[in-house]
Amino acid sequence: MSDPQEPLRLGVDRDRCVGAGMCALTAPEVFDQDDEDGLVVLLHSAPGPEHRAAARMAVGLCPAGAIALNAPDSTGS
Ligand code: SF4
Repeated sequence: MSDPQEPLRLGVDRDRCVGAGMCALTAPEVFDQDDEDGLVVLLHSAPGPEHRAAARMAVGLCPAGAIALNAPDSTGS
């Protein structure tokens, strides 16, 4: 059902994010942290194949459940 190479659509919920930074550590090409408040910044809502595995891992590692897969559309920026 879940092909690891399947295109991803990511979304982040900054209201839930606690700034743990796991996402930016795990998938630095996809997630960053805001310089001011430390909250997640979504760099790519539809990462390329080379970053999808890391992005999926980041979803699982986020302690706040702030990263959604296949969100309808990103509000990241
Ligand atoms: S891992 Fe989750 S809680 Fe931590 S910065 Fe990323 S989105 Fe926020």
